[in-house]
Amino acid sequence: MVQSQLKSRSSHELSVHEAIKRLDSDLTQGLTAEEVARRYEIYGWNELPVKPGKPAWLRFLLQFHQPLLYILLIAGAVKASLGSWTNAAVIWGVTVLNAIIGYIQEAKAEGAIASLAKAVTTEATVIREGQMLQVPSQDLVPGDIVLLTSGDKVPADLRLLKTRNLQVDESALTGESVPVSKAIQPLGDNTLLAERINMAYAGSFVTFGQGTGIVVATADATEVGKISQSMEQRVNLSTPLTRKFAKFSRLLLYGILTLATLTFAIGLGQGESWEYMFEAAVALAVSAIPEGLPAVVTITLAIGVNRMARRHAIIRKLPAVEALGGATVICSDKTGTLTENQMTVQSIYAGKFYQVTGTGYSPKGDITIETDHGTVSPFETGVPVALESCLTAGVLCNDARLQQMKDDTWSVVGDPTEGALVTAAAKAELSQSGLAAIKPRLDSIPFESQYQYMATLHDAHPRVIYVKGSVEAILARCSYMMDAYGNRIQLSLSEIEQAVDSMAEHGLRVLAFAQKEVGEHHHAIDHDDIDTGLVFLGLQGMIDPPRPEAIAAIHACRSAGIQVKMITGDHIATARVIAQRMGIQKSKQVIAYEGQQLAAMDDGQLTQAVDDGDVFARVAPTQKLRLVEALQRKGEIIAMTGDGVNDAPALKQADIGTAMGKGGTEVAREAADMLLTDDNFASIEAAVEEGRTVYQNLRKAIAFLLPVNGGESMTILISALLARDLPILSLQVLWLNMINSLTMTVPLAFEPKSNGLMQQPPRNPKEPLLTKKLLRRILTVSLFNWILIFGIFEWAKATTGDIAVARTMAIQSLVAARIIYLLSISQLGVSLFNYISRRSNSVTNAPILLVGIIGAVALQLVFSQVPLMNILFETAPLTWNQWLICLLPMIPMIPVAILSNVIDPHHSKAINHR
Ligand code: ADP
Ligand code: MG
Repeated sequence: MVQSQLKSRSSHELSVHEAIKRLDSDLTQGLTAEEVARRYEIYGWNELPVKPGKPAWLRFLLQFHQPLLYILLIAGAVKASLGSWTNAAVIWGVTVLNAIIGYIQEAKAEGAIASLAKAVTTEATVIREGQMLQVPSQDLVPGDIVLLTSGDKVPADLRLLKTRNLQVDESALTGESVPVSKAIQPLGDNTLLAERINMAYAGSFVTFGQGTGIVVATADATEVGKISQSMEQRVNLSTPLTRKFAKFSRLLLYGILTLATLTFAIGLGQGESWEYMFEAAVALAVSAIPEGLPAVVTITLAIGVNRMARRHAIIRKLPAVEALGGATVICSDKTGTLTENQMTVQSIYAGKFYQVTGTGYSPKGDITIETDHGTVSPFETGVPVALESCLTAGVLCNDARLQQMKDDTWSVVGDPTEGALVTAAAKAELSQSGLAAIKPRLDSIPFESQYQYMATLHDAHPRVIYVKGSVEAILARCSYMMDAYGNRIQLSLSEIEQAVDSMAEHGLRVLAFAQKEVGEHHHAIDHDDIDTGLVFLGLQGMIDPPRPEAIAAIHACRSAGIQVKMITGDHIATARVIAQRMGIQKSKQVIAYEGQQLAAMDDGQLTQAVDDGDVFARVAPTQKLRLVEALQRKGEIIAMTGDGVNDAPALKQADIGTAMGKGGTEVAREAADMLLTDDNFASIEAAVEEGRTVYQNLRKAIAFLLPVNGGESMTILISALLARDLPILSLQVLWLNMINSLTMTVPLAFEPKSNGLMQQPPRNPKEPLLTKKLLRRILTVSLFNWILIFGIFEWAKATTGDIAVARTMAIQSLVAARIIYLLSISQLGVSLFNYISRRSNSVTNAPILLVGIIGAVALQLVFSQVPLMNILFETAPLTWNQWLICLLPMIPMIPVAILSNVIDPHHSKAINHR
């Protein structure tokens, strides 16, 4: 029945009353649990089916869309036209194999990232059975009453019932990026979607204010559900690095094609046969391209993503993995990220100073005052009216609740800052429920970082507005203050500021409280009502202890050459003390700037300030973007945290925008590249460490792969130009580059981090992946490989007269030497070296590397000893003696490996650090 009613008239035409009635709900009570269950049966999960991306066959075919594979496909075709069908079949077989590997690892990497992103659910605040609850958005049904506040993602299509300055960003739906102000009046039946200001549509974001709405459509029935293509969730696997590789391989391709054509032409000119020269040209092309590299890059990045997830950092966008490895600055929020967000009021100023004892949110503890006769209860020295008013304001101007857990501990539901105020009042026997009964709340303006205060209106005689917020925000609106005994006196700014300073000096977070009495005609409040004429009641100072792990992480960042900067909305003095305690400062003293100071600076001054400043206090969220841009102008790679609506632009601009998985708004999460599941600064540092490991492992993979390509191409080029027999054929090159390279290189992606990793400065962001040193290393080893292949082949051909045996021996020698080289750049090799030279007494456990080596050896045995392989790859079985000879090159490889570690010390430092 409900469903048929739903369809008769559009929701935006209905009045608030009609909308509620039609959906058979209730504004204050919401739905009952049975009703929710019943409607769930009808409507199902509030979830859009994820549209399948490209079909599997198309994604498989797209794997062939790379320059390298074009060459191979063409080469196969030419071979076939020359009548070498086995040759053609093997080449094509290899391309298919390559596509299968690519397809599988791509699907896996995408799946991993998508499922990580899904693990973080969106929650909605609903009223059910008269209670305010947090439920996963999927659980919503039509008729649910949903509360919206700034930062929320609208969870379903809602007809708005109440709004307060509600603004919604509907760009996902309408493409209009300016937020729309919402209202509740019914609208005409032909109002366009973008103009239905009494509706909030699923998928849009609340950028400002609050609202209440009733769910009119869920899942497919929502407007986004109808234009479902906007929900296609495809993970983008391309990163700056993969794009660089793609560009690099394109360049390489042109180079190779030119070279191959030249070789071909020169050879023909020298009277070589057509077939010989074609084989040489193809072999050259195939040998120069590192076929295994793209797979290794994606696998390494995917492994990094997994490792980060295990350390509480969920990557939403793959490029962040790379950026993390190069991060030079981390800008972090203070409250909750660097600190525990476990607030306890310790000090109160209300005409006089009071101390508060006790820890945590438990109401156990006392409020005391120092007198000439020692520490006593304030109630013995005259009625402390200001103290009572200050505590009352704290309790009533408050949306948090305390909850006693089974193990007798207390926890906060809501904002910890507010929870602490409830506890403090309880210590003076002022209960939250008792006060709420005497002075029921009529209206409220919730806290927004932008305004730095919260206000509530209460029904009493006379009616009263309580306001709490930052000292600056409150004092600017006060004309009077209350003395300790409740008399209204002239405001003494200097006295209050002194009190603030003495609290902030101890690192206390200071909140100021004020009240304003208003007439009976007041039913609601607005920002204008509290712009002037407030009576200052007092201050409450609370501690928020630093997270011990965060202190350690700051220290780790320091040794890793990464600057840490605190960005906070809190008071400059408090922030400075906390920063000093946590060791953020670059020099002896913390250098702190205030938002206002920054706002007055020009770009040049700002660049200086972001460089030497450690703390940026009272920073408005909108200023964060400017800070990020100033840092980026200096060439820094920045990780920036944020949790509010207005942090989104800064999070998008930062190289690694970081949002909180627990706290934080949906808007911030959507804008972020990375989510911290534990909201902890230490997890950023962990992610940086993993990012560096990824980069290091990629570098190892390159240092390992390219010299084989180098050796092969030199061999083929030189032999072809000298018109000698080719020591290695195109198919054999394919085997080496695909099968052998992959088995031996993939383990490098799993390499653990090296010990010295976080003792090095970040890499220069401008440094290319292929540094001069790395190139020199590659060239050296390539040269060795060439001598090896060429030498063994010529020698074996001369002694055995069997060209297939000679080629097989050349390849087996290359692989044998390669094992030594692999060890020399891996953790296993380094730790073996240290063990043998008695510099350490343990050897790294490297199971995957060993599996890779054993696998490679087994495959090489098959390659030359199995008759089918002899036919396919033109190899020959070797005798015991020949096998032994193939092992000999391992010996000269040792000095070459050591030499290459000397040539490329950056690389060897990274892996040899003890
Ligand atoms: P941060 O999270 O960096 O500490 P916020 O923007 O949350 O900064 O808070 C800035 C200031 O606003 C605080 O120093 C405090 O004075 C005030 N404030 C914070 N939370 C509340 C609240 N719930 N109600 C009123 N004022 C608050
Ligand atoms: Mg905060």
